[in-house]
Amino acid sequence: MFTTEKYTAEISTKDYLEGYVDVAGFVECCKKCPNYGKTWSCPPFDFDPEEFWKRYERFELTAVKIIFDEEYGGKKFSKEEMDKIIKESIGKVKQQLSQELLAQERQIPGSASLSAGSCSLCGGSCAKQEEKPCRFPEQMRYSIEALGGNVGMTIEKLMGLKLEWMEDGRLPHYFVLVCGLLRR
Ligand code: SF4
Repeated sequence: MFTTEKYTAEISTKDYLEGYVDVAGFVECCKKCPNYGKTWSCPPFDFDPEEFWKRYERFELTAVKIIFDEEYGGKKFSKEEMDKIIKESIGKVKQQLSQELLAQERQIPGSASLSAGSCSLCGGSCAKQEEKPCRFPEQMRYSIEALGGNVGMTIEKLMGLKLEWMEDGRLPHYFVLVCGLLRR
């Protein structure tokens, strides 16, 4: 169904904050998303995201390009088919990346991983919606965009990649998942 390509880049968190992070701007975008205020991994937060970035010195980025085969990329699918394709592509790759990053965190004391997209560990029923604490705080990680990072600009400037969006019920030719590890 798909193949993957991996890209990496590294930047100081100081430079990343200055060039790629706009907390106030991204919160306005987040407000338009159905996840806003509904998961512990998404804004609004009870902490200042800029202060979160400042706890670290370096940001090691990983992007995985999920490239669909010809019979999938650019083709139209029903909502059910699309959900299945996304689960089998993005869902699997994201889960694998999360496990790899959590393993790196364990090896590097003081590091923190940022996940590719919002937390989906509870299958769309985040405990926040029941006003309960996160069920898996040891696994839940914030995404780059939730902390105000501009993912599109990040991969374009640091990796020479571009995001492609789903339009008109068509699967893009590729998705790009972006995650990373913050180090002191
Ligand atoms: S682990 Fe579950 S409860 Fe915690 S943020 Fe993710 S979806 Fe919500």
